[in-house]
Amino acid sequence: MNRIILRTLLFISVLSSTAYLFVSAQVQPPSVVILNAQVADGSGAPLRRARVRITGVHIARIGDFKPDKDESTIDAKGLVLAPGFIDIHNHSTKGIETHPLAESQLAQGITTLILGADGDSPWPIAPWLEARRENPASLNLALMVGHATVREQVMGKDFKRAATQVEIDKMAQLVDQAMRDGAIGLSSGLEYEVGSYSTTDEVVAMAGAAAKHRGFYMTHIRDEADKSFEALKEEIEIGERARIPLEHSHIKLGTVGVWGKAPDYIRAIEAARKRGVDFLADCYPYDAWESNLKVLVPDRQYENPKSVEKALADVGGSSHVTVVEFSPNPAYQGHTIEELARVNNVSQVEMFIRLIREGDAKNTEAGIIGQSMIESDIKAFYQQPWVMVASDGGIDSHHPRCAGTFPRVLGLYVREKHWLTLPEAIRKMTSLPAHRLGWTDRGLIREGAFADLVLFNPDTVIDRSTFANPSALATGIEKVFVNGALVWDAGKPTGARPGRILPH
Ligand SMILES: [Zn+2]
Repeated sequence: MNRIILRTLLFISVLSSTAYLFVSAQVQPPSVVILNAQVADGSGAPLRRARVRITGVHIARIGDFKPDKDESTIDAKGLVLAPGFIDIHNHSTKGIETHPLAESQLAQGITTLILGADGDSPWPIAPWLEARRENPASLNLALMVGHATVREQVMGKDFKRAATQVEIDKMAQLVDQAMRDGAIGLSSGLEYEVGSYSTTDEVVAMAGAAAKHRGFYMTHIRDEADKSFEALKEEIEIGERARIPLEHSHIKLGTVGVWGKAPDYIRAIEAARKRGVDFLADCYPYDAWESNLKVLVPDRQYENPKSVEKALADVGGSSHVTVVEFSPNPAYQGHTIEELARVNNVSQVEMFIRLIREGDAKNTEAGIIGQSMIESDIKAFYQQPWVMVASDGGIDSHHPRCAGTFPRVLGLYVREKHWLTLPEAIRKMTSLPAHRLGWTDRGLIREGAFADLVLFNPDTVIDRSTFANPSALATGIEKVFVNGALVWDAGKPTGARPGRILPH
């Protein structure tokens, strides 16, 4: 290189850095320093005292430094500062349109919602995302494309059969399009009506299309009851054949026949992980699920008394099934099938069939809560390093997990039951989901990362939502920042809506 070029380069670089200094002095983004925080950085490392500077949308500095003169400060008073929680399984696609402040989510410290779970997503993807960009929420959103949604696009009402090769090719094409339009992966709900008729080959083809765009496959597997192990095997096969990272939705063992088998289930997963399968899972902190009535009957003979009898026995009896939503007859809502049978003077099996028929007549299905998991299984799953926290809830859900999940883990599983350390629980809410999403700029408190942050009181944080009052807000979450902006303060939203559509 000759000297003239060298000198020219030097000159240009001096020029540009002067220009940079000039510009940055002119439009310095606002900054604030959080003092006296115990920082849980999301990696699982122990808490440490540090000051954290937020400049604009980013975390600018962490350590023991002095705030600049006139720089604003927040005294954290020894509370815990963590990365904002990422909820990888959230059903707020409808709710976020009408409640963009997402109060019940911010009150849990959530700063990012991953929507489109269980095979069901908005369609088409691009205009939906565009509408969210135009009308932003208080928190960040990202969207999965739903397997059942795409399947219905291709097969219409004629979905109660295996798809043809031509149809499968078309589905893969639509997944490809959705990924180009901004979806971050493929979700499925193979236990639900539309998804349940798909073959493994069909799902592999669609997952393969998502994998080409570095997406992941998130699945509510084909069976979470007696056939949990077969369904897990299929999920792993899909991951291996489509070469796609797996996110096992709401890991559980949901019938009497598989209760207590978490150690075997974990062994099967560990074996796959050893073979190189990129398997992660999420788990909500409740022994009861929320779904539709028909999922109780895996052989789909909803009016066959024998099948129904087994279905009810499998979850521990009809007292374990509560109707929470039933538009044809709202009077049923809030009652167990056992109670409804008694009041209507019919057998429990007859009551179940009546619910099916009344629903079918109106082309709907009862929404139910089934209390059919046991604590030792939940604990075993939570203690695996590859299991993260996710709510499976969302704005307007009828399950207490919609407003309670993250504070419940921090208050009940960390503080009261000692199942997890605080840094480990936070890792499961932050860097672990970020890892599955392939995001390196969120989920950790580090310099240069986006300033999605939650400040909470580890001594008081707890859920207050119950099955009777599922939307009661959690307590102990003091402040929440999204992209550097304060969105939750003193028990309510600030009204700021700095949420972005991720990963962009
Ligand atoms: Zn699900």
